[in-house]
Amino acid sequence: MPGVDLHSHSTISDGSLTPAQLIQYAASKGVSMVALTDHDDVAGLAEAAREALVQGLCFVNGVEVSVTWKGRTIHVVGLAIDPESAGLVDGLSRQRHSRVERAERMAADLARHGIQDALAGAYGFAGDGVIGRTHFARFLVSLGHSRDVRSVFRRFLVRGKPGYVPHKWAEMGAAVSWIRDAGGVAVLAHPGRYDFGRVTMETLMAEFRDVGGEALEAISGSHTREMNERYLRYARTLDFKVSCGSDYHGPIQGYGDMGRLPELPADVAPVWRDWPA
Ligand code: AMP
Ligand code: MN
Ligand code: MN
Ligand code: MN
Repeated sequence: MPGVDLHSHSTISDGSLTPAQLIQYAASKGVSMVALTDHDDVAGLAEAAREALVQGLCFVNGVEVSVTWKGRTIHVVGLAIDPESAGLVDGLSRQRHSRVERAERMAADLARHGIQDALAGAYGFAGDGVIGRTHFARFLVSLGHSRDVRSVFRRFLVRGKPGYVPHKWAEMGAAVSWIRDAGGVAVLAHPGRYDFGRVTMETLMAEFRDVGGEALEAISGSHTREMNERYLRYARTLDFKVSCGSDYHGPIQGYGDMGRLPELPADVAPVWRDWPA
């Protein structure tokens, strides 16, 4: 679906374009419907919506919530949310506070491995945005520890490597409730990226459905073609709606580019089908 992109990031979290720049970029790539889905924050939505009016794009309010499920991290995207919903605002605020506390532990662990001042370094890249591993990754690139952000995640910030600390995010049921209570649709983000094995993955999808999850992001800029096909099949057999998104983070870093996603097959239900035009 080159014209629909329901997963992207701005400088509000770990993207490198401002919300307005991101919308301009989407327009330049021929995208006609776009969602901004920053990690654990909705602060960019108003600016993005304003620019979407200027550019003549259909804009969807979104967010990407970090969740701990059975000790593993997964991501749940909320689409068509009311960003002022009290439960969502409160839940996301707690997530952001816990990110600050996690960042301090990450910096302390990097210091134990001889890398000093990583907290200030990471905040230098985050600015006022939601702090995350990507900002530590950019700092490590700036010190010359790795060539680019992608390679940082092979040697740092992941389980067993310097800068990794365990963390407890929101529970899946809570995250889905914040989204649903905000009038939104809960989407299991980039399912192909979780390294879980078939049984665990099927358990996850069943539990996601049980707590009110309605859609799979079967088509993702971070998936291979095989992953897209596999999760389209799951969407058909498990009767999930389907979302599609690039997970664009800006020109230098991250996953897919905008305006390059494959089309949805005709026999799955797009998550946007019931939305007002
Ligand atoms: P956090 O939510 O702070 O733990 O950071 C997660 C973010 O780190 C993801 O949304 C990506 O932007 C980035 N990230 C994680 N793994 C990788 C990777 N292998 N390559 C590039 N970016 C990654
Ligand atoms: Mn990210
Ligand atoms: Mn994600
Ligand atoms: Mn994302």
